[in-house]
Amino acid sequence: MGEYAGLGEVSGKRVLVRSDLNVPLDGTTITDDGRIRASVPTIKALADAGARVVVTAHLGRPKGEPDPAYSLAPVAARLGELLGQEVAFATDTVGSSAKETVAALADGQVAVLENVRFNAGETSKDDAERGAFADELASLADAFVSDGFGVVHRKQASVYDVAQRLPHAMGALVATEIDVLRRLTVDPERPYVVVLGGSKVSDKLGVIDNLLGKADKLLIGGGMVFTFLAAQGHEVGKSLLEEDQLDTCRDYLRRAHDAGVELLLPSDIVIDTEFPSGDRTPAPGVVPSSEIPADALGLDIGPDSAAHYAKALADARTVFWNGPMGVFEVDAFAAGTRAVAQALTTVSAVGGLTVVGGGDSAAAVRTLGFDEEAFGHISTGGGASLEYLEGKELPGITVLLDEGA
Ligand code: ATP
Repeated sequence: MGEYAGLGEVSGKRVLVRSDLNVPLDGTTITDDGRIRASVPTIKALADAGARVVVTAHLGRPKGEPDPAYSLAPVAARLGELLGQEVAFATDTVGSSAKETVAALADGQVAVLENVRFNAGETSKDDAERGAFADELASLADAFVSDGFGVVHRKQASVYDVAQRLPHAMGALVATEIDVLRRLTVDPERPYVVVLGGSKVSDKLGVIDNLLGKADKLLIGGGMVFTFLAAQGHEVGKSLLEEDQLDTCRDYLRRAHDAGVELLLPSDIVIDTEFPSGDRTPAPGVVPSSEIPADALGLDIGPDSAAHYAKALADARTVFWNGPMGVFEVDAFAAGTRAVAQALTTVSAVGGLTVVGGGDSAAAVRTLGFDEEAFGHISTGGGASLEYLEGKELPGITVLLDEGA
């Protein structure tokens, strides 16, 4: 009835799909279903081709054992709504419920297995333990499709080991993501501007190393700002700071200068005396970035910086953006992120390539009310896209290119 990307005829076959359904939840309410929607095309294509589709995915970081707070049940329900067909749900991943649920599937039907990280074997560093779990997962299917871009940088059972055990193919989402990232790394149209923000500072500093030889401008926002400011000798008060990265930041500033790369830091900062929390009304103020008071913390780039960053982006032909400029979840600290998002839409509107990478950046774009279509590509994987740009090997991609399964 139908073929799927290199797997040949999939009709009547059980196809295990590794999707990235790691969405933010408030209790059992999905607050942003972007990753589920991004997973639909591959699942639908397989179901339409007559496959018996078995979806495996993780949610959050459970500790290798079942934890109801991280159940995929609400996600399976939402997937069913988006697919417009019933989606069966197995209350375990490889146990009796999974086996029965898969056995009951007819051609074209879809099931979701419970959170794959409820099993310690999924993320184990021990090859044998991971392999044993991958054997169990593989026994549920005849073929494997890797479509969880957010996890392809992880050597995990449902991403890596299972591909060694089954005929495998790259899903449409992963293929698109890799294609876009390749366009960023192989001869990008210039000027090529990279905007980095967010809170996972140490994760992101590595990418700067690689980008210093590739991007024309690097715009720094979010929590990363303060390690750079401290490296320049400024007081950063109670702001996010990675003391052990000060030398790295100094080295980047020096190398950017030597290489003629514009590394922009904000000239003003929106501060408050406390990190925003539910019961407190924010009391934002704006100070020059060299004058952050000792009892304050920086929560967004300031208005002058936002305008300056928008200007720096105006003539870009290629933009990669990862990480919000501030604590965008709170309106008082969202303006910097909004300004950058707006500037990207302008670049897209005149035919430039804009790529938004990272779960929180993608959520920010949607939360702030931008139309996703106004961006060239919204990536579902922050860590994976950064590692690709850093030039690191992505195990979940390499394994798909290997022959032998
Ligand atoms: P992911 O890694 O999940 O794909 P991401 O790469 O888009 O996401 P993160 O590094 O996780 O982004 O950072 C997002 C978070 O950074 C947001 O929740 C935002 O509130 C926070 N943030 C931004 N600026 C600051 C700041 N100055 N201080 C503290 N937190 C900040």
